[in-house]
Amino acid sequence: MKTIIMAGGKGTRISGIASDIPKPMIPVVGKPILEYQIAALVRSGMRDILLVTGHLGYIIQDYFKDGSAFDTHISYFHETEALGTAGALFEIEKELSDSFLLINGDLVFDIDFSRLFAFHAENQSLATLVSHPNSHPYDSALLETDSDERIIRWINKEEPRAFYKNRVSSGVYLLDREIIALSKKSISAKKVDLDRDVLKPAISTNRLFAYNTPEYIKDMGTPDRFYQVEEDIAKGRVAARNLSHRQRAIFLDRDGTINQSKGFITRHEDFKLLDGVDKAIRQINKSGLLAIVITNQPVIARGECSLEELDLIHRKMETELGNTGVYIDDLYYCPHHPDRGFAGERLEYKIDCECRKPKPGMLLRAAEKYNIDLSASWMIGDDMRDIHAGKAAGCKTALIVDSAKRDIPANEAPDLYCSSLENFMDMYLK
Ligand SMILES: [Zn+2]
Repeated sequence: MKTIIMAGGKGTRISGIASDIPKPMIPVVGKPILEYQIAALVRSGMRDILLVTGHLGYIIQDYFKDGSAFDTHISYFHETEALGTAGALFEIEKELSDSFLLINGDLVFDIDFSRLFAFHAENQSLATLVSHPNSHPYDSALLETDSDERIIRWINKEEPRAFYKNRVSSGVYLLDREIIALSKKSISAKKVDLDRDVLKPAISTNRLFAYNTPEYIKDMGTPDRFYQVEEDIAKGRVAARNLSHRQRAIFLDRDGTINQSKGFITRHEDFKLLDGVDKAIRQINKSGLLAIVITNQPVIARGECSLEELDLIHRKMETELGNTGVYIDDLYYCPHHPDRGFAGERLEYKIDCECRKPKPGMLLRAAEKYNIDLSASWMIGDDMRDIHAGKAAGCKTALIVDSAKRDIPANEAPDLYCSSLENFMDMYLK
């Protein structure tokens, strides 16, 4: 499979750091960004690379030459006029493989590509956009997906948004060459914008997907981000997030841990974040841990809340967390309930499932998806079901409870008692 790297960016926003070299050649901890990209590709066995160069492109070509010094094969396409973020793809169409990776040249990333390829194949995707939650979703373009991760809407940067999933395109794409042929029909200019002219129009094929991952992918758009990336590389945070390495997670119960618990919540209007939760989740995000919500929602089985309303509740949660600059990495809910006899109940959810806490099903699913080391992870909640589920999965456990109620028999007791998620994170970081 071929990888196309768009290495033509001028990088005006970052010109305070370096101005006489192309953006992908800006050195980070002694090496150009592009060299990190190529090394990450080579580690995944991706050794057929085409660099699209523009402004000062000869500097790139002089450095990488044919790629042999970097254990890979590199060819070049030099833009003599600016062709936008996708115009070059039409010029090199014949050189593209049936599926190809497309990567922005200003990204630092470390991804387990085999997972992305499997996702793309499984969904028979025409275009898979690698996405992730970010710390400023309120002013980012967002991808709206259905429950199968199919992209159903593109919310532009400047567009007003209601409650949303925090899901932002990262600048890494796995495309089928077919999408170039498809979009050619409606494109007349040589300068082509990838988002506007190629991807957005393809939403109507129902074959556009978002592959959401907690792995490290950051652009070097501004000096602030540059210094952050530099520190992350130096401290090994970039490589550590690759899902081929074991991850650590904080599993979070929802009601009573993240939001105020007043019986079951069946309307988004009643969802309110607890004080200090944003601060605690910020610490989780910054520590390189995964924040994964694990919640029982028997209101679905009982017919007290629709799946649409539950989705709205969760989007409200992500939106309010996003407004404070923090995010969760994933969310699992159990819609089931074993006991029958409620008016309006939905029989298809009235089962004795493997996911309802105190069973560990949701934690085990998350562990498989994200390669999580459960013994190095924590389950935190305000109910003994959380503690039992955490223990059954092999995690450490923390119970949010009044100090007066901390007398649970030793064989069932959590590893830690705390008064809130914030209190837990303070203890955890010590
Ligand atoms: Zn269940």
